[in-house]
Amino acid sequence: MMRVERFGVVGAGQMGNGIAHVAATSGLDVVMVDVAEAALQRGLATIDQNLARQVKRGGLTADAAAAARARVVTSTDMAALGSCDLIVEAATERVDLKFSIFEKLSTVARPGAVLASNTSSISITAIAARTDRPDLVMGMHFMNPVPVMALVELIRGLATSDETYELVKGVAERLGKTTVLGRDVPGFIVNRVLMPYINEAVQALYEGVGSVEDIDTAMKLGTNVPMGPLQLADFIGLDTCLAIMEVLRDGMGGDSKYRPSPLLRKYVEAGWLGRKAGRGFYRYGA
Ligand code: NAD
Repeated sequence: MMRVERFGVVGAGQMGNGIAHVAATSGLDVVMVDVAEAALQRGLATIDQNLARQVKRGGLTADAAAAARARVVTSTDMAALGSCDLIVEAATERVDLKFSIFEKLSTVARPGAVLASNTSSISITAIAARTDRPDLVMGMHFMNPVPVMALVELIRGLATSDETYELVKGVAERLGKTTVLGRDVPGFIVNRVLMPYINEAVQALYEGVGSVEDIDTAMKLGTNVPMGPLQLADFIGLDTCLAIMEVLRDGMGGDSKYRPSPLLRKYVEAGWLGRKAGRGFYRYGA
């Protein structure tokens, strides 16, 4: 089986920079690509902050952090991914965008390179069909924040080969993660269960069942989870939450139980996308 040494990441946002971070601290050479140079600079700044925090807490030596940071290079040109063995796409959750990125990856990735998507909900089989190598395409769904969260949900498309699955599973384990295998259905396991829960919390807020704080405190202390559903939605990004609900609704034949709350849509229209935008259900300082 191929040994993965060069690791590519498409998208330098919340997830992309976290994936680049764990790959680099696990000893892989990382190429991180984004359409926006400003996004790359923000992504690198986040990696620097998170590495510094790990050093401060004793999880990493200063030398190991410096070596990891030196392993990350960036580019706004997808062609920079040409020497990568495994490329994980973590761009904005939009079907048309994912399709065009994977069409492009087919032309820039070297023959034999494995292509993975960090999509939260979009069909891996459909993404794979846009490439020249459906057998080498997988879903590799990291959790946010990537350096902290232990899980990677793996999703096999219809054409994914056993070798590809074993290779991606091995890489996830090398990054220190535990894997689960979900079927290629809308939302896979995590978001099939999580998003209707978050959406219901937003709908409860909309209907005045409780305040933001009371809904979150109720679920946090009432079900023993580290944060309430509205705070979690802010962490994920409300645009991402809405996009996932739309994939669930459309993929489940329009079943009304997956209808996005009008309030969720309103917040996205307002640009109150959660922590990354400084405002969602809560306000976040600079
Ligand atoms: P984000 O908004 O923080 O970042 C998205 C990045 O993609 C931006 O930097 C943007 O410039 C970049 N981008 C857009 N078009 C691009 C293109 N054509 N080429 C390269 N880069 C491009 O979003 P995020 O939260 O990091 O989510 C990214 C992906 O990860 C989505 O598919 C999302 O569903 C998935 N995901 C998110 C979470 C979460 O909690 N936020 C968890 C698991 C998976």
